[in-house]
Amino acid sequence: MDETFMQNVAQKCDHFENDPETFKSWLNKIEKFTLDFTQKCSLIDTKARDVEQKHTNKEPMGEEDELDHSNIDDKAHIEELGKAKEVSRLKGWGKMDFSEQWDMDKALGVIQENMGYTGGKVGCRLGFIPSSGLVVSCLGELLARIINPHTALFYSNPGAVQLEEEMVRWLVEFVGMPTSSQGALVSGASIASIMAVRTAVQAKHIKARDYHRQVVYITQHTHRCILKALKICGMAECEVRTVKHDYGTRMDPEHLETSLKEDMQNGLHPFMIIATLGNVDIGAIDPLDAIATVAKRHDTWFHVDAAYGGFYMFSKEVRQKSKGVELADSLIISPHKGLNLPWGSSALLVKHGAYLHAAMTLDTQGNYLADTQHDHYSPSEYSLELSRPFRALPLWLTLRLLGTSHFEDCIREKMALTMFCYDELKKIPDIKVGPVPELSIVAFQLKSKDNKKLDELLTKINQDGRLYLSSTKIDGELYIRLSFNSMSTHTTHVKKALQIIKEFLMLILI
Ligand SMILES: *Cc1c(COP(=O)(O)O)cnc(C)c1O
Repeated sequence: MDETFMQNVAQKCDHFENDPETFKSWLNKIEKFTLDFTQKCSLIDTKARDVEQKHTNKEPMGEEDELDHSNIDDKAHIEELGKAKEVSRLKGWGKMDFSEQWDMDKALGVIQENMGYTGGKVGCRLGFIPSSGLVVSCLGELLARIINPHTALFYSNPGAVQLEEEMVRWLVEFVGMPTSSQGALVSGASIASIMAVRTAVQAKHIKARDYHRQVVYITQHTHRCILKALKICGMAECEVRTVKHDYGTRMDPEHLETSLKEDMQNGLHPFMIIATLGNVDIGAIDPLDAIATVAKRHDTWFHVDAAYGGFYMFSKEVRQKSKGVELADSLIISPHKGLNLPWGSSALLVKHGAYLHAAMTLDTQGNYLADTQHDHYSPSEYSLELSRPFRALPLWLTLRLLGTSHFEDCIREKMALTMFCYDELKKIPDIKVGPVPELSIVAFQLKSKDNKKLDELLTKINQDGRLYLSSTKIDGELYIRLSFNSMSTHTTHVKKALQIIKEFLMLILI
């Protein structure tokens, strides 16, 4: 053994890991960067998209640009896809040659240059469903990462795992699900959806040979992550029934019932109903109570996607409209949406925790896990993951420090901003607003229903960069949508947004 080498490595590790001066100097630089970042993002004139545009030579991927997987077996086609990737590789981050060591200043400079002042903390960023990534949660993340407990098993860190179990329990109570419920914190609703589908298959004892006879009920406004989950679970061949919806994009429970009956008459098996509490298009809430009744009558798994809308139940009005949510067999709620935690925070809750456990465990454990058997809750037995971050800590710290009343206020503010924006847009003669918002998304189109002009409006607004919006389709018609979910968005931003919309509306209509 080369003693000198060993000592050198140990010393270097010490320098990077344990030297208080190094750590303090890094923390100071990051503190400065963070303060500058949050301050600038809060400035109303920040260009919401300027740096992103530097990286994209063309417009965001439209429908016609979507990757074509149909000839995925074709070798030449695969090579072509590989080439396209080369061309669009980002520049600006420097050569990925890590033999050279940079200091923190240089690294932060490049981060600043490439990221600018983008992200959810920019108040005028109203595309998709933004999340500001609350700084207190980010600090909770830092703590969780510094402590870095292994949270897969009770045995590996009982304290951390107990906190996770308690947070899951808090979520169960918040939603109103029964005490038999169990769940896990996961990275996002897409992963949670895979787990939900797998759990439903387990609970309903569906065999692979019968997948083609299973029917899943969605609407046009169900998030596509559930279709992706079905595909990943090997259930692409099951039938997906698109249930009719009303003008407000809410599922029609009567049509659901008729579809189910028809399918049963045709020898198919209604397997899973996907209801949504707050769809991504316009934040509509499906009639959960009525859907739950249909699900119960036909012994069908009732899944509620409350990824975005779940925490809007801090509003009494939303909670009333969401009656029936507590009857879900499985439910997804994402702190990284409604609570504005940084991305990577979602939860799957299952009414009968035993089904989730059965779906996420093997009959036999790995040999090295033999001494970990416990009667206690272990997250890895309720989730896809084994090694995983300490997600409970940032969630706990955020709620602990800000308190639920703060979120009640914030949700109320977002809903009020939404109605204000809706009412103001309604006053503009050339604009036709979409359905009355139920949560925090406003959709509008042109009275003329000129989709080309509307698209031009969206492009011009986003190219300008002071405001960032996105679009959606309802019954085949294009709408521009504004989503007020970021905790950095307030009255001033909405007024600014309205002014910018009017500005460009005049431009495209002359
Ligand atoms: C965001 C969202 C999803 C997808 O969640 P991810 O966490 O991004 O995977 C699913 N459903 C709804 C309603 C959403 O808003």
